[in-house]
Amino acid sequence: MHKTAWLGSVAQLAEALDSKSRCSGFDSQQSHQPAARARVAEQVDAADLKSAGISSCTGSIPVSGTMMQAFPPIRAFLLDLDGTCYVGSRSLPNTLPFLDHLRERGIPYLFLTNNSSTTAAAYVQKLRARGFPVEDGQVLTCADASARHLLQETPWRRIYLVATEPVEEEFRRHGFKLTFENAEAVLLAFDTTITYRKMEEMAHLLQAGVPYYATSPDITCITERGLTPDVGVFIAGMKVMTGREPVILGKPSFYMVQAALERLGLSSAQGVAMVGDQLDTDITMGVTQGLVSVLVLTGETTLEKAEAFPLKPDFVASDLGEVLAWMRRGTI
Ligand SMILES: [Mg+2]
Repeated sequence: MHKTAWLGSVAQLAEALDSKSRCSGFDSQQSHQPAARARVAEQVDAADLKSAGISSCTGSIPVSGTMMQAFPPIRAFLLDLDGTCYVGSRSLPNTLPFLDHLRERGIPYLFLTNNSSTTAAAYVQKLRARGFPVEDGQVLTCADASARHLLQETPWRRIYLVATEPVEEEFRRHGFKLTFENAEAVLLAFDTTITYRKMEEMAHLLQAGVPYYATSPDITCITERGLTPDVGVFIAGMKVMTGREPVILGKPSFYMVQAALERLGLSSAQGVAMVGDQLDTDITMGVTQGLVSVLVLTGETTLEKAEAFPLKPDFVASDLGEVLAWMRRGTI
């Protein structure tokens, strides 16, 4: 088992919890309860963390098995992919036993990714090729969450979509008209085929005041060659020119959680865990949206980064194998 600096005494944990509650504005008896965390989610927008005063919270991270009795049994898992289930082309050794355990116990799980350069169907094939048990519909991308939001909660059907061809095709199947002329909204996805022309047209529409959305805020994407530019780089470029910032529809937004719960057939986030390796997306979404947040250290986050981050996950695990061990002990 991975031992962390915060696997300390009950007293230390109580102190840490007090520290967290001071930041969230709830007392230590309630702040770790899902309902209370849901209320935190209503009050704290990830984009406004500094103004909410959370950035001043630098206490220990209130996690460890000694706190687990405070949580209800996990009734569903939302699992990040890269950095959590695999790293690049390398599958992590404990992913398959973890997924097998969920299937044996009948615990639903959904893979969530902020990579909108390809479709969920392509991800399903990719995961099957790795030998992971995955059904059609068990992958939710931020592009899927974006399409869902636009269809269900906006009137926009003529959109300027900046995306790869497979994702464009998916949006056409949803019934969107993809157009620059008279576009009602702009949606920026992770377009690995982006051109100057696309940037130019997007800039014209943003200057005209068209509603502006992005699938995800990620600045970088980890590839075999190292870090490459992700959607956030183009968001920043558009902001420099137009001053506009998009509504984010993928992790860490409420819209991604909404799409995930709908896919799982659940009416609330209570008892649903978000497991991921990224603080600014996976953990931020977990903490601010009322999920049980589990940070795994198999991806881009180190303990030092986690301790320096203003939002604290409920649990920190070395990998999915440690989460599996907790489940086998009946502590999560
Ligand atoms: Mg990840």
